[in-house]
Amino acid sequence: MISAEIRALSFADYLQRIREFTNEELVSNEVAMVRAGSVPDRLVARMAELGLCGMTLPREYGGLGWTVAQQVRLTFEFTRASVVYRSRFSTTIGLVSQALLAHGTDRQRRRYLEAMANGSCVAAFALTEDDAGSDATAVRTTARRTGDGYVLNGRKRYITNGAWADVLLVFARTGDDQTALSAFFVDRTAPGVRTRLPAAMNGHAEGPIAEIELNDVRVGSEALLGGEEGDGLRQALRGINHARTHVAATAVGQATRLLAEASRHAARRTQFGQPIAEFGAIQAMLGRSYAELEAGRALVLDCAREFDRGAPPRERISAAKLYCTEMASEVADRAVQILGGEGIAGDGPVPRMWRDVRALRIYEGTSQIHERNLARALPGLLDAS
Ligand SMILES: Cc1cc2nc3c(=O)[nH]c(=O)nc-3n(C[C@H](O)[C@H](O)[C@H](O)COP(=O)(O)OP(=O)(O)OC[C@H]3O[C@@H](n4cnc5c(N)ncnc54)[C@H](O)[C@@H]3O)c2cc1C
Repeated sequence: MISAEIRALSFADYLQRIREFTNEELVSNEVAMVRAGSVPDRLVARMAELGLCGMTLPREYGGLGWTVAQQVRLTFEFTRASVVYRSRFSTTIGLVSQALLAHGTDRQRRRYLEAMANGSCVAAFALTEDDAGSDATAVRTTARRTGDGYVLNGRKRYITNGAWADVLLVFARTGDDQTALSAFFVDRTAPGVRTRLPAAMNGHAEGPIAEIELNDVRVGSEALLGGEEGDGLRQALRGINHARTHVAATAVGQATRLLAEASRHAARRTQFGQPIAEFGAIQAMLGRSYAELEAGRALVLDCAREFDRGAPPRERISAAKLYCTEMASEVADRAVQILGGEGIAGDGPVPRMWRDVRALRIYEGTSQIHERNLARALPGLLDAS
């Protein structure tokens, strides 16, 4: 439950509170969290109490009502800590709640949004399948109409929070038309739903993605998002743009921490009788990383402000997601180089984050999909700028 004291804070004071929480509770518990292999329940509860699950949900649904730009500034802060902390609520605040806000029926909003805002309902977004990755139109999961609802069959993979979410937003085919996908709210504990975690993860290890099997899962007709068949991908668009903006901001937060770690190490580590920070080659990596980090920060903030003014700027968000996630990988790689052997050995933040940021270039549209989308939108994009 979000406390009254948190609700009364101005944005500047809330930002400061999240900064302190990040340093004092998230960063300082990272090693213990990594060794335990998962985010402790105590910290999940703290994130909910502080309102992180309801950051951008409107106040009328129990959220804090921050704008997308404010959410981006908050994300810059809490993603200086391990990326898996924010994975615990990212699919709820972005993909699922935004689809609900934009397209849900009154009944669906009343049923889920308040619980999502206070952290008691975790949501997962279940689109990807074995044969439907970048090409979402290839989804094979089916939803067959029955007298009073639908029966779902299929298999999803790589679903964030899929193993512990309360509700899954499942995309399934409701017609023969290639693009006729519909979105359904499915209780994760419903008969016929089975989840499985991978044996190992390359990054995001403490927040593993799940495989979900749906075998004759029955849902009522009220489970269909917006009560409309065949419109699932369009309904998901606002949430997808919201999530891409959030992932771009996450990349900036991660790069900020990586650069801080690399710069501290460079000042401390002495070779050839002087701190390695005095070597031009190290300065080039640090200086270039800072310049790229600031370019990414400015781009994602600018997209978020445009998002708040009206329709999400789809292509510019693609550019921000592409640039910031590639930038974070570059910064992580340079940080490993600056740390030398310490960048490879042990469970320090740099080797761990190097693995974690790699995945940012794959989910919410791979880098190649964003490059393709941007290339296709040219030269119109240039004319508009
Ligand atoms: C940590 C993590 C969390 C995730 N969370 C979720 C989630 O919560 N919900 C969910 O539904 N999914 C989730 N995913 C899945 C993610 O969205 C997919 O992995 C992603 O869309 C890519 O699909 P794929 O892995 O099948 O790769 P593929 O689509 O098979 O791509 C393989 C390669 O081919 C390239 N490629 C594909 N098509 C083209 C093209 N047209 N042009 C050029 N290159 C192309 C890709 O860029 C990539 O390099 C998650 C994935 C990860 C890693």
